[in-house]
Amino acid sequence: MRSAFELTLVNGPSGDPALFADLVGAGRAVLCDLGTLVGLAPRKLLRVSDVLVSHAHLDHFCGFEELLRVVLGRARTIRLVGPEGTIDRLAHRLASYSWNLAGSYREGVSFEVLEVLEGGGRRRATLALADRFRPAPVECFEAPGDLVREEARLSIRAVPLDHDVPCLAFALAKPRHVQIWRNRLEAMGLGTGPWLRTLKEAVLAGAADTTPIRARWRAPEGVEERILPLGTLRNEVVEIVPGQRVVYVTDCAWTAANVERILSLARGADTLVIEAPFLDADRAQARARRHLTAREAGTLAHWARVRRVIPFHFSPRYAGRYALLEAELRAAFEGRPGATAEPPPGARDPSPTPRENGGALTISSEVSG
Ligand SMILES: [Zn+2]
Repeated sequence: MRSAFELTLVNGPSGDPALFADLVGAGRAVLCDLGTLVGLAPRKLLRVSDVLVSHAHLDHFCGFEELLRVVLGRARTIRLVGPEGTIDRLAHRLASYSWNLAGSYREGVSFEVLEVLEGGGRRRATLALADRFRPAPVECFEAPGDLVREEARLSIRAVPLDHDVPCLAFALAKPRHVQIWRNRLEAMGLGTGPWLRTLKEAVLAGAADTTPIRARWRAPEGVEERILPLGTLRNEVVEIVPGQRVVYVTDCAWTAANVERILSLARGADTLVIEAPFLDADRAQARARRHLTAREAGTLAHWARVRRVIPFHFSPRYAGRYALLEAELRAAFEGRPGATAEPPPGARDPSPTPRENGGALTISSEVSG
């Protein structure tokens, strides 16, 4: 079985926030936050179709130009989602450069920027090289719910969080799908064609192995056809890629509203990538800066019953001692007595639902799936 997403913390767990989520088999990727991107190869930046910006603190937003330089002369639209103010911020960033040479590019990038506002409002505008990134008309609309993108193979949700400034948490989800191995298809002497859709539908419907599948394809000598049992094709050329949900949370205060919104995205998720900047002993610092502690991050993972948690955004004050943050988070995630945080004042009962799968804690700067 393959994973739907391959996740990489571009700058590791202690550097600027930037999570590269490669959509396996889709030739594209989602980038969560724009901390410095110098560590990301241009060929990977070229796969970015969607950018999700949590908020505009420098360490989450300073890498924008590194992306811009790679995609500038490309005929593509990159969708960028951010909190209130993102359109203006991006327009000002782009307006700080001279674009007199924009006309010399045969092709150019466009950014379709979507703001998710507190209370369900949305604002959208497109900034394009072809227009020298001049501020475009802003479209305002209401959007009930937290969905910001829905495709057959990918959905993205966003919820506003309080970090003293507007901030967003995100969930990326891919449904279960069927992958066809073309090289194995060729080895069996079969060609590609619309019949592969029938095959995928039969696999997803759980049809019997004896179900006949009519393979029909165009060859140089004319149309060819063979009828094979579904079981043979299922064993030889098909792989089922399970659905997966990844939730990205940074930066936020320990408040009842934040806890509720994070849990609304993260309950039952496969992977929770979450900030864990401070030890519980330094909780006063975390409160003052509107951040979580490692204990609170692990407690959220415990309440949400995620399968695994990846902590990051470690404060440099713990350099050489990051294992302490990981240990505190691990104890809370496992729900050890006395290791979890008390719910914030006013929070609804966040007791976890019974765990369906065995929990596994992964702490890594580079993980698959
Ligand atoms: Zn911040």
